[in-house]
Amino acid sequence: MKRGIKFKPESSKKVSTRNKSNSSKNMEKYALEEVESTHENESAVKNIEKKVNLSKFVKTIKPQVNRASSSTNTFDSININQDNSQTNKKRLHLTVQSDEVAPKMKRDNTDEKEKEFLAGADQSNLKPEENWYEILKNLREMRKNSDAPVDSMGCQRCMDENGDPKDMRYQALLALMLSSQTKDNVTHTAMSKLREYGCSVENILNISNDKLGELIYPVSFWKRKVQYIKKSTEILNSKYNNDIPKTIEELCKLPGVGPKMAHLCMQIAWNEVTGIGVDTHVHRISNRVGWVKTKTPEETRKALEKLLPKELWIEVNQLLVGFGQQICQPVKPHCSSCLNNKLCPFGIKNLNSKVKK
Ligand code: SF4
Repeated sequence: MKRGIKFKPESSKKVSTRNKSNSSKNMEKYALEEVESTHENESAVKNIEKKVNLSKFVKTIKPQVNRASSSTNTFDSININQDNSQTNKKRLHLTVQSDEVAPKMKRDNTDEKEKEFLAGADQSNLKPEENWYEILKNLREMRKNSDAPVDSMGCQRCMDENGDPKDMRYQALLALMLSSQTKDNVTHTAMSKLREYGCSVENILNISNDKLGELIYPVSFWKRKVQYIKKSTEILNSKYNNDIPKTIEELCKLPGVGPKMAHLCMQIAWNEVTGIGVDTHVHRISNRVGWVKTKTPEETRKALEKLLPKELWIEVNQLLVGFGQQICQPVKPHCSSCLNNKLCPFGIKNLNSKVKK
């Protein structure tokens, strides 16, 4: 079963940098559900095991949990064993074995606490950063139709997909520059006009500032963006052979390009996950649901990257941006219809204050 955006595999070494203290149970649940929802054969299961190496995270789970199944199908057993042989630290190893098809995983000898946890018991007494996975699942449910403006008109939809790869990457960069403080439909229209004119480094290098302004108007701060685009395009021409740079550091040196744009650009243009793109929606919602307590988008990016597995970094941007456009708006969020309204501190407060009035 596919769920949202396909995650890009990563090495277990990179995963190990995450916050280990407050999300280990979520991490286990995340791993188990990923196994359940994506398995088709043993190799798929092994991939998941490789992607999310639980031995890196888990500190407090029961030492030995055997889930033997009488079935010869899907998951014969999942063993989580404590291994203290090397160090005093508690480490757990997940072993998954599978055959072909099974209706469901049977588990014996599972203690009540874990059974409750894995069955999705009420976690409202947990801190929001501890139940991030429950919140994430609700977000996925609310966004399952992918019908927010960002889904059809976001920067990833502004490139000529049949064009020259260099032009596509340049268009991705320009769309991100135009999108700052600008609604998706306005950015999308401006990019359509630019593409119609011929959106390549060579063409934009030779266009007059007036004409460029005419094409991108009415994006926010269009006059300043004309300057940024022209200066950046000159750099791309002289330094990068009409292509865009392939590192965050170099992208951030281009006029008008900040970390949010750079990380999204690496993802859209180069298909590389280097960080979470945090815009105003991601910053606001992450703070509202209690995933982070930060003051700036950059602080939010760093905190989110500690909290969430790297496999989710691509998904979380689009998920939250669309959610912010449709439900969790800056002013008057629709908390009463939000599936997270019993888990989200901001929503609980918001609804309580309405009841009192
Ligand atoms: S409960 Fe309200 S504030 Fe919290 S995520 Fe939902 S819409 Fe946003």
